[in-house]
Amino acid sequence: MSAHIIDGKAFAAKVREKVATHVARLKADHGITPGLAVIQVGEDPASEVYVRNKGLQTVAAGMNSFEHKLPADTPVEDLYALIERLNADAAVHGILCQFPVPAHMSEEEVVARIDPAKDVDGLHILNAGRLASGQAAMAPCTPLGCLMMLREYHGSLSGMNAVVVGRSNLVGKPMAQLLLRDSCTVTIAHSRTRDLPGVVRGADIVVAAVGRPQMIPGDWIKPGATVIDVGINRIDKPEGGTRLVGDVEFASAVQVAGVITPVPGGVGPMTIACLLANTVTACCRANGLPEPE
Ligand code: NDP
Repeated sequence: MSAHIIDGKAFAAKVREKVATHVARLKADHGITPGLAVIQVGEDPASEVYVRNKGLQTVAAGMNSFEHKLPADTPVEDLYALIERLNADAAVHGILCQFPVPAHMSEEEVVARIDPAKDVDGLHILNAGRLASGQAAMAPCTPLGCLMMLREYHGSLSGMNAVVVGRSNLVGKPMAQLLLRDSCTVTIAHSRTRDLPGVVRGADIVVAAVGRPQMIPGDWIKPGATVIDVGINRIDKPEGGTRLVGDVEFASAVQVAGVITPVPGGVGPMTIACLLANTVTACCRANGLPEPE
């Protein structure tokens, strides 16, 4: 039997629709338009694509998009001054600095300058701390998207065994915190984990966030388990050219799992949708209004 394949594109479109509805209500009832500012330093080609997509989707949801493109040799003080201006700007509810930044800048320092209330990427240490303490936080977009998919499919996650493979601040750790908040029994696996296949075999939910192409084969998956594949890896095709694959070996895992996300078209599209959702949440909090569910 083959697993149910979650259509991340369709799911993300639904999330964006909900966001747009909420934005329309904020405008009509309160005269407020949520605004997202995106900063890009330098001309990394992948960043260009992300930033353009973020801008387009922000505007499509009815929000204001403010793009700030700075040359790669921008002095770090100028970047900090821009962040301070955006922190103080009441029309800006979310601020995101696209990474990577040039080598003379520290990602950690940049994130630390962003007002935690406007940190829609959820990377500020205060948001990480709040998430870990069970307080209202801005959660990083990719794990938030994974959680939304899991909730949509399962309803309650309470009591399920979840294994998160990967412990980065961007994906693995916040994913584990979100699953814990939803009362899963959570294991975080990483490069030093002993008997990773055995650990993964115990999971009702597997979230793979490693960055190693097709590392998790189907025979590591418990029959009927839910598999969320965050990995995005580009590999060579035998006939030439390249293609995208996840951290899970999809062809074998789809035969065993109950539910699975494909790559591409699974978790990927959810990230920007959740960025928009976080911006609306930040806007509601800033104005003392009820947050979207
Ligand atoms: P990182 O490189 O920051 O973290 C990778 C994690 O995987 C580390 O914790 C590492 O362990 C662990 N790991 C590495 N090798 C192994 C192994 N052999 N066995 C078990 N664990 C291992 O990556 P990110 O978290 O930033 O990203 C993970 C993947 O998700 C990437 O493919 C990335 O492209 C993708 N991604 C996708 C997004 C989307 O929008 N869909 C957004 C963000 C990321 P250790 O800590 O011990 O080194």
